[in-house]
Amino acid sequence: MSQQTSLIQSEIDYDRDGKQTGFLRLPYSVHRSAYGWIPVPIVMFKNGAGPTALMMSGNHGDEYEGQIALTKLSQSLAAGDIQGRLIILPMANYPAAHAGLRTSPFDAGNLNRSFPGDPQGTPTEMIAHYIEEILMPLCDYFFDLHSGGSSLRYPATVLRKRGDTAEQEAALEALQMSFDAPFGFIFGGGGSGGGDPRVSSAAAHRKGVLGLSTELGGSGTITPAVLALAERGVKRLLHHIGLLLAYEPDAARGMRGMELTGPEYFVYARDEGLFEPYVDLMAEVKKGDAAGAIHHPETPWVAPTICHFEHDGLVICERIPARVERGDCLFHLATDIGN
Ligand SMILES: [Zn+2]
Repeated sequence: MSQQTSLIQSEIDYDRDGKQTGFLRLPYSVHRSAYGWIPVPIVMFKNGAGPTALMMSGNHGDEYEGQIALTKLSQSLAAGDIQGRLIILPMANYPAAHAGLRTSPFDAGNLNRSFPGDPQGTPTEMIAHYIEEILMPLCDYFFDLHSGGSSLRYPATVLRKRGDTAEQEAALEALQMSFDAPFGFIFGGGGSGGGDPRVSSAAAHRKGVLGLSTELGGSGTITPAVLALAERGVKRLLHHIGLLLAYEPDAARGMRGMELTGPEYFVYARDEGLFEPYVDLMAEVKKGDAAGAIHHPETPWVAPTICHFEHDGLVICERIPARVERGDCLFHLATDIGN
């Protein structure tokens, strides 16, 4: 299998200066369209020498904050505003984003569990391969805008990995700070994909590209406050890396630096039923505190199952739907760095 070939055809010439818009054409031959292609939207701004950044959202299709922020950015910028090259994929897993679903309705693919992908695989695997093997090698920076999606909610948060060297650690920390979200955390394991080689941040790491991701709100909707932080953060980030030098960031408000170091930061449903949370997002909790109760209205005479926190920390993520099954994530925590 060649790592460099893809059946996806880009309508964008990555070497040409100016603003270009179009689609990545992913061949998809189905009953209603024998010679059809899936249109993954792409926008590129290029103006002379400078860094290249890939900024994407819609990796998970039901995460809307980034999709709106990057759509607005695509319309507000002109090529002359950029020093270098900015590639934008607002609906990276287009079939999922078009359907408003986390995963693709065409192949059930979760793009963020599909890297490094397969150039001859399912649509989701082909997109993953194109991003990792065709786009990332062009890039110095990679930003993947996620949110909690339909099932989870976060405050505006910027995530990063730890750097491999002191120099890389400093660069990643500065990138994270530049976004100026109220919370930033370093993930080191557990259900959010830390350590998983199939996530986009692992792909960026393999390609030597400095990357960040976000968790901006969620619950399948948009709030004005989080969207404003997303739009502001994206421009601050682009300014920080020298791509958008004309932008004048306002004063930084400060980020609370957190970390997430292991599976004990997560609370999972141990049973199925209806979940009654005992705490709200942003609560400070202690190891052993009750997190909530899972009720069993099918057998209302059976006592609820009580779930507990297994670590001290700040509740930085909560589940949205009340109906739960065994294995669903109910909450996860983060702790101040060094605690
Ligand atoms: Zn996501």
